[in-house]
Amino acid sequence: MSAAPLRVVVIGGGFGGLEACKVLRKGIKQGRVSVTLVDKENFFQFNPLLPEVATGAVETRHIVYPLRAFCQRLGIRFVRNKVRTVDPVARVLSLHNDLTLPYDRLIIAAGSTTNYFGIPGAQDNAFPFKTLMDAIRLRAQVVEMWELADQATDPATRRRLLTFVIAGGGITGVEVCSELMHMFTTTMARLYPSVPQNLVNVQLVEAGERLLGGLKQEHSEVALGHLRSVGVTVVLHRKVTAVDAANVTLDDGSVIPAHTLVWTTGIRGQALDSPWPWALGRGGKLAVDKGCRVADGVWAIGDAADCVDETGAPVPAVAQGAMQMGILAAKNLLAELDGKPAGTLKYRDLGYFVGLGKHSTVASLMGVPVSGVLAWYMWALVYLMKMVGARKQFEVATDMVKGLFVDHDTSQIHERRRMLRDVDMEPRL
Ligand SMILES: Cc1cc2nc3c(=O)[nH]c(=O)nc-3n(C[C@H](O)[C@H](O)[C@H](O)COP(=O)(O)OP(=O)(O)OC[C@H]3O[C@@H](n4cnc5c(N)ncnc54)[C@H](O)[C@@H]3O)c2cc1C
Repeated sequence: MSAAPLRVVVIGGGFGGLEACKVLRKGIKQGRVSVTLVDKENFFQFNPLLPEVATGAVETRHIVYPLRAFCQRLGIRFVRNKVRTVDPVARVLSLHNDLTLPYDRLIIAAGSTTNYFGIPGAQDNAFPFKTLMDAIRLRAQVVEMWELADQATDPATRRRLLTFVIAGGGITGVEVCSELMHMFTTTMARLYPSVPQNLVNVQLVEAGERLLGGLKQEHSEVALGHLRSVGVTVVLHRKVTAVDAANVTLDDGSVIPAHTLVWTTGIRGQALDSPWPWALGRGGKLAVDKGCRVADGVWAIGDAADCVDETGAPVPAVAQGAMQMGILAAKNLLAELDGKPAGTLKYRDLGYFVGLGKHSTVASLMGVPVSGVLAWYMWALVYLMKMVGARKQFEVATDMVKGLFVDHDTSQIHERRRMLRDVDMEPRL
């Protein structure tokens, strides 16, 4: 009688988790493993297009893909639930509703969470930018500010409503800033003719000496030049030190009156309801070896893992890092069943894209820098290829072509009462 397949559980259906599942399919076909993917959401989200969702350039549902459908194709069981704790001795995960999920092998691909660095008021007042709901909330907030500015008469009130501060000049911060500015100077300028454009104030605050630190210097300069040319105030060498509902304070003591602070400064490894039962490395991420192994029978990948590649260089928290780790961890899991040695991560940096709005992009492809409209077409093509499923590829392609001719969608789909609670509209309308 053949042995029962080993129960493999993958926590998290993001970039890393999905790649791991695809590799594990080989083991499923051979009857050696059964695989369960557990995720607190029932969809995969394509993060690189969140800035476009936040500005209504790409439709919300077009960047997500149902995990159940993905799993069904691969013969994987999908459980839509949140992992709360891990018992590494009994090898059991506890989920919501008092459910449990036993495992023989575990791949942790739970991603990361926003890091507020303990800055007073940041968690309560800033707008994080990691999830689809964050993008939906930000779009609603932005539209709300424009609607209120349309009704306000006091110039100072209007200026505060129309001030949008983005903390963090990395890829996400630059992209959010660029997309917002593109939306403001096109769609919003047309829709709100009574709002004086000179009151619109978008500020990007970066603690380091340049934008896009870690990427090519020339791209930092292109991004800086582009943002300044479209009217963004870029503040370098400054940190946000406090936030409340109406003000953002910087480390030189200056205060920016604003109701909207977008927080794109950093991430930490995802936490469960109780601490992970294994050692943590940098950024609250699970410490792993060069083969992504955490402990016997346990691997961690992607943003959840503090991993160095075989040269000793830390693997960046980007989608391609998560995908390469996902493939490696799943291969190592299957290799272990064959009694073969584990491989180590040979991280290949395939390049990057940074969207600058207005159908312009800076990119590095296999080390070759490209910028402008050509880079935007390459960006569109590569992202379309990376979307999960032909239907999503078609939907996003349609949005991209549509965006060349029509305005951003400014429909405000959100509960407005929560947003309005702290906005001081004095003097009265
Ligand atoms: C706005 C934005 C733009 C980005 N743009 C780019 C880009 O252009 N290029 C690039 O390479 N990278 C980009 N990134 C980074 C990239 O998205 C991440 O590095 C990548 O998603 C990490 O993959 P992952 O599999 O580790 O985690 P994720 O893709 O974040 O997936 C984690 C999954 O785990 C699930 N999960 C978490 N906790 C639990 C739990 N307790 N129980 C069950 N499920 C759980 C989550 O629901 C999620 O589905 C961007 C990120 C953001 C936020």
